[in-house]
Order: sequence, then C-alpha cells, then structure tokens
Amino acid sequence: LSADDQAVLDRIEEENIDFLRLQFTDILGVVKNVSIPAHQAEKALTEGIYFDGSSIEGFVRIQESDMRLVPDPETFAVLPWRSDDDGGAARLVCDIVDTDGEPFVGGPRQVLKSVLEEAEEMGYSVSIGPEPEFFLFEKDEDGNATTIPHDNGGYFDLAPKDLASDVRKEIIFTLEKMGFEIEASHHEVAEGQHEINFKYDDALSTADNIVTFRAVVRAVAEQHDLHATFMPKPIAEINGSGMHSHISLFDEDGNNAFADDDDEFNLSETAYQFMGGLLNHAPAFTAVTNPTVNSYKRLVPGYEAPIYVAWSDTNRSALIRVPDAAGVSARFEVRSPDPSCNPYLALAALIASGLDGIKNDADPGDPVREDIYEFDDEKREEYGIETLPPNLGRAVEALEADDVVLDALGPHTAEKFPEAKNQEFSEYLTQVSQWEEDRYLETF
Ligand code: GLU
Ligand code: MG
Ligand code: MG
Repeated sequence: LSADDQAVLDRIEEENIDFLRLQFTDILGVVKNVSIPAHQAEKALTEGIYFDGSSIEGFVRIQESDMRLVPDPETFAVLPWRSDDDGGAARLVCDIVDTDGEPFVGGPRQVLKSVLEEAEEMGYSVSIGPEPEFFLFEKDEDGNATTIPHDNGGYFDLAPKDLASDVRKEIIFTLEKMGFEIEASHHEVAEGQHEINFKYDDALSTADNIVTFRAVVRAVAEQHDLHATFMPKPIAEINGSGMHSHISLFDEDGNNAFADDDDEFNLSETAYQFMGGLLNHAPAFTAVTNPTVNSYKRLVPGYEAPIYVAWSDTNRSALIRVPDAAGVSARFEVRSPDPSCNPYLALAALIASGLDGIKNDADPGDPVREDIYEFDDEKREEYGIETLPPNLGRAVEALEADDVVLDALGPHTAEKFPEAKNQEFSEYLTQVSQWEEDRYLETF
C-alpha cells in the first residue's frame, strides 16, 4: 500500500466514512458514480473496481467492456451533504484502466494527463483558473425545471432575506468544506445568473474541481427546490453562461513563464506564442470547449461572449483578454469555453493548442482595442479577424481538419467525440422549433 493510499484509509477511519463514491466522467463530461462500502476501499485503491465500460457513453464496444476504475488517492474528499448519523460519504476521482491493465486512452482524465505530460516534457506545468457561470431556476409543481429565474420579480425583493445570496453562500460553504478555495462570487448580469470563482490550480485538479463544482451547485440548489443549470444559453436574448478560463504556465523553477515585466502587457514571448497557438486552433477547439448545439446560441454578438478570433487587453468581445496583472499573476483569459464542456477534454484541447504555438513560434498579432461587435465585415477583413464556428456542425468540421487538436484528444476520443457530436447536430437539424412555428405556421 502506498503512503497516499494509506492516508486515504486513515481518513476513512477518522471521518467515519461508510461509503465511497468513485467518480469519473463519460466522453460528454457527465459525472458517473459507483458507490462502494468503505471496507472495499483498500481493494479499490490497490486493484481497482471492475465496471462495464460498454454502458458508458463514448467508451468501448461490448466485447471489450471489462474496465477498471482506479481511484486517485489525492482526490479524496468528504461529501458534506450527508449527516453524521447516516455515516459519512466521501468521493474519489478515478482513472480508467482497460482490459490490458493500461490507462484507457479514451478516459477523459487520461486525455488531459497525456497533454500535461507533453507540457512537462517541454518544461512547463499548467495553471488554470476557471470562472463557471450558471443559472438558478424555479421548479414547477411537478418538480420539473423551468426557466423562471428564482430571483426574478417582486417577491424576493421584499422577502426578509435574499434567497439568491443564501443559496450562493451555502454553495460556497459546501465547496469550502470540500477543500475549495473560493476567490469571489457574484450575481451575474442576467436574472438568476451567478458566478463563483475558485482558486487556480494545476490543470488536472482544476478539471476535477469543475466536475465537483457542478455537482455541488446542483445538489445545493436541489435542497432549496431550485434547479441549477450550466446550459450555456438557457434563455434567448439574455446573457448566457460562460466558463472563462485563465491560463498561465510555470517553469521548472516555479516561475511564471508567461510573465515579463518589461512588456507592455506584462507578458513574455512564451505567453504570446501560446496565445498565437490558441488563436490558430480556436475554430477546432471550439467543438470541445463549446460542445452542445446550445453553446452556439451563446456565441453571438452583444452578450459579453466572444465570437471573434482576436485578443485584447480591454474589450470583452475578443476571444482572449489580458487582465491587468503582472509577475506571478501574469496570465490571460480565454473567454469562449462554456460550462457544458467536458473540462478534461476542453482543457486538453486548449493546452495542446497553446503548446503547439510555443513549438511553432506562433504570432497572435496586435491586440484589438475597439469593440469588435461594432465592426462591419469589411473592417474585420482589414484587421484579418476570423469568427468562431457559427454552429456545432461547422465546429466539428473544423475539429476534424485540425491534427493538433485531434491528437490532443487521443486516438479513441478523436474518433468518438466528432461522431457523437455529428449525430447530435444532425438530430437537432431535423427538429422543428417554436421559432419556426411562430414565424411560418400562419404566414404560409
Ligand atoms: N456571461 C458572459 C459570457 O457568456 C460573461 C460575462 C462576464 O464577463 O463575466 O461569457
Ligand atoms: Mg462572469
Ligand atoms: Mg471573466
């Protein structure tokens, strides 16, 4: 038993844990759980737990379905929403091992790990600080989610306490109990919309954290009879939910490789190359960072979401924004990702794009200071500014044409992901929407 494994067994004892939830995600980033009694912990840690990989979206065919979940001992966290007399529950994030005992190349966590190994070979560790946004909606009498913002209208304005900030506070306390360091939280632009920022961490921990974050937000909302959604654009013509991602690289001495105090924007050559790589591969990684049909309803002008492949130090219509920060905090913010993504795959795609920029000395060009939403096509052309793909179908086309991003996904996911997304898009195209009915039913 390794020291880390033993530490988990000790915690299980100390915290009086009865059940362990072994957590992983499918190709779409949907959380899967296998619950085991605590006395199975040692076996799980040393041998792993068998599960049927063929019943998980995007994994394997039926004839090769015996896969194992191997918990990562560093991810042990007590789940705060079970009371003590129930016996506590804890979760462990798992890696997936295939029938040959090798890390399964199609496991989303493994995909990210491989890209991070490449970064390490180049001498870098990657830090990511995410800003997930979400909506809290009311439920109807049958308990189904609506799109009615819970803090909309007069009732809660007059209520003795504000439910919105109460729920948010409770989400934050719950996250803190699970070891999150919360940096800030606020009500977002739209009614019912919130943002909670947690501290940046290495990319793998951040991806694990995003998965946990979404689960905690949903669970706490549920306890208040509300529905939390990370759907990118739940209501037309109102701000959608993004998941801006702040990126920086650290070198082997622990220095921020993106920092250069002599530069106008405090960014180093390496930072600009990385940014250039992101801009070059943006059309392709968009399929991964914005993976739903609905994602593209957010990426439209006028709602603080980016559509133009450009960078800026000032305006929020650009894909990449450089915040006013220097030294250890020098970084930039990629504004396109949304919280419906599989965070492992999304971060893998972003990081691989940036690393490719470093390898090929990519040039991000000059910053765009003006509001690009206001540009006409001619001016955009003059500035050489491209747009992000307008829908999921086009995004998948761009992905399929980009070997760097496909390579980042690994051989398995590079095939399964576009396949699943093309199918999703074709299905969508055959639907008849309310908009069509309103517009055409009585006209023709
Ligand atoms: N909600 C906006 C988006 O869709 C972002 C707002 C902000 O700047 O935080 O990306
Ligand atoms: Mg925000
Ligand atoms: Mg932001």
